[in-house]
Amino acid sequence: MTFIPPNALGPVARAGAGVGPRPSVSFEFSPPKGPKSEAALWEAIRRLEPLNPTFVSVTYGAGGSTRDRTHRTVVRMLKETTLKPAAHLTCVEASREEVDEVIRDYWEAGIRHIVALRGDPPGSLGGAYTPRVDGYQNATELTAGIRAIAPFDVSVGLYPQIHPESPSVDHDIDVLKAKIDAGATRAITNFFFDIDGYLRFIDKIRKAGVTIPILPGIMPVSSFEGLSTMSQRIGVTIPDWLSNLFEGLDQDPETRKLVAASVATEMCARLSEEGFSDFHFYTLNRADLVYAICRVLGVREASPQPTTEAA
Ligand code: FAD
Repeated sequence: MTFIPPNALGPVARAGAGVGPRPSVSFEFSPPKGPKSEAALWEAIRRLEPLNPTFVSVTYGAGGSTRDRTHRTVVRMLKETTLKPAAHLTCVEASREEVDEVIRDYWEAGIRHIVALRGDPPGSLGGAYTPRVDGYQNATELTAGIRAIAPFDVSVGLYPQIHPESPSVDHDIDVLKAKIDAGATRAITNFFFDIDGYLRFIDKIRKAGVTIPILPGIMPVSSFEGLSTMSQRIGVTIPDWLSNLFEGLDQDPETRKLVAASVATEMCARLSEEGFSDFHFYTLNRADLVYAICRVLGVREASPQPTTEAA
C-alpha cells in the first residue's frame, strides 16, 4: 500500500470539516497494574470521556489474571462516568463455572456489554492453546454461554490477516458466522496497517452474508519497537512504509507522536472515504494521540448549551 495517496488531504479535510456523518468511536483500555498506572488510566479516561464514545472496553488479562482489576475498572466507569463500559472476558484456564460466575457478577453490577474472546495461554502470546476440558473451548462457546445467562450485547474479535491458528479466511468467516449464531452482535478487528487488504477482507465477509457491525481496530503507534514485537507475535504485518516512517526516531518521541497521529488519521480518513464510520481505538491507556486523531476526524466534545440569562 502507498502511504500517502495523491488526494491525501481530501478525505482528512472532509472528515474534519464535518461533512457527512460524525464518525462513531470506541476506546479500549487495559486495567491498571498499580496506583500510578491507575492514575494515568483515569486521566486518559477523563480526557476521552467528553468525546462521547459509543462504548469503552477494558481488557482481561491472560488466565483471568486481571479478573478483579477489570471488574473494578468497568464498574467504576459505570458508576462515576457517563461512559458505557464493556468488559472483555476470556475462557483461558478457567472452568465454565468460574467464567459463568464472572458473567453473572457483571450482570449484577449493571454491565450489559461483554467482549467475548478465547484468550491466549498465559506467558506465551501466540503460543499453542490447549482448552480446559471443563472450560469453554473457544469464543463461540463463550458467546453462547454469556447469552444463556443474560441478554448481554456481545462483541467478538476478528482478524484482518486471519487468526494465526486459522487455515484460511473462509475458516475465519465460518467462525465469525458461528459466533453470530451464538449471539454475537458486533465484531472488533485486531489492528492492521494494510488498508487495501482490510477492504478485500471486509468485502469477502459481506459477500458471505455477514451484516453485523464490524469495527476496524486502530492502533496509534506510540512505540514502534513495542508495536513490532507485538505484531510479530500475533501475526500482524508491519509494512515497509510504516517502518520507514519511524526509522531514526527512537530518541525523538515528539516527532514519533506527530507521525503516529498522522498515520492513524490518514487510515481513518481513507476508511471513512470507503464508507466506514465506526472506529475502535487501542488507547494503550493514553489519551493524547487518540484525542488528537478524533479531533481531526471531527469527533469533539458536545458544545456547551447556551445559558439563558435570568431576566
Ligand atoms: P476464537 O474465535 O475462539 O478462535 C480461536 C480458535 O478457535 C481459532 O483457530 C478458531 O478457528 C477456532 N474456533 C473458534 N470458534 C470455532 C468454531 N465455532 N468452530 C471451529 N473452530 C472454532 N486476549 C486476551 O487475553 N484478553 C483480551 O482482553 C483480549 N482482547 C482482544 C480484543 C480484540 C478486539 C481482539 C481482536 C483480540 C483480543 N484478545 C484478547 C486476543 C485473543 O484472545 C486472541 O487473539 C486469541 O488467540 C483468539 O481469541 P478469539 O476470541 O478470536 O478466539
